[in-house]
Amino acid sequence: MKLCDLHTHTTASDGSDSPSELVRLAEASGLSALAITDHDTVSGIEEALRASDQLNIEVIPGVELSVIANKGNMHILGYFIDKDSPALQETLNIVQKARAERNPKMVARLNELGIGVSMTMLEDMAQGGQVGRPHFARALVELGAVRTVQEAFDRYLKRGAPAYCPKSVLKPVDAIETIHRANGVAVLAHPFSLKCETRGELVGIVDELVAAGLDGLECYYSEHSKEFTQELIGIARQRGLVVTGGTDYHGKAKPYIKLGSGKGGLKIPYECVHELKTRLHERSSN
Ligand code: AMP
Ligand code: ZN
Ligand code: FE
Ligand code: FE
Repeated sequence: MKLCDLHTHTTASDGSDSPSELVRLAEASGLSALAITDHDTVSGIEEALRASDQLNIEVIPGVELSVIANKGNMHILGYFIDKDSPALQETLNIVQKARAERNPKMVARLNELGIGVSMTMLEDMAQGGQVGRPHFARALVELGAVRTVQEAFDRYLKRGAPAYCPKSVLKPVDAIETIHRANGVAVLAHPFSLKCETRGELVGIVDELVAAGLDGLECYYSEHSKEFTQELIGIARQRGLVVTGGTDYHGKAKPYIKLGSGKGGLKIPYECVHELKTRLHERSSN
């Protein structure tokens, strides 16, 4: 069975593997396709595509956009995007500016709480990539303020915690439109993170996004149970949405998530890539 991983992060955002290291690891892991989906940046794509030239693996250019959500976290994935699209660049500039303004605010909050983290430390950790909360988490571990990355999120960094500052400035409809203008396919990432209490609440959000042009739903995911995955596949099929999946691999930033297999047993069929391509062709012929 051909397998893929359609949700991964590199050093361009908050992953710890460079784009070329990630592509080599994906090939060595036996995957047939890999999508690079860094948070709010496309700066890792060129290196990843170049690395795949010499290897037996298909690399799909992608991006993961953070959008405004009423609760939890909402992320929209874009696949097969034209990374040089002016519409995409314009949106990324806005979101990256919001991130750049947020980071010093979170540093100040942590300093007020007696934790001596600095922007320089975070920038070193990000190795030239974009600073995000997982870098804060690793810094807090290194400073001895917490023992684990998870503890850093729970005590300081998660939404509602004392050092958390919001960063999303993009509406879900605008994220979907941006992805379409960049000739890509838009997929709702990891629905578990929406923190819906009922199926009705989840379906309500999905239907709003479908009305805005959503193309697919990330059903296979490291944090989704088998039952939730099946439920999501049902929701996707009823609406003609593409079924996709990915691990959200971040390398050392999330050591418990393995490329391709997540927490162990995840298998994402290559059929997801076929479905994305079919959708892409339907879009471009309309
Ligand atoms: P940011 O884009 O800077 O807000 O950071 C988002 C990253 O933080 C994503 O990679 C998430 O997986 C990670 N993250 C968000 N919330 C948590 C949490 N509660 N525990 C662990 N990681 C989290
Ligand atoms: Zn991340
Ligand atoms: Fe995400
Ligand atoms: Fe992600």
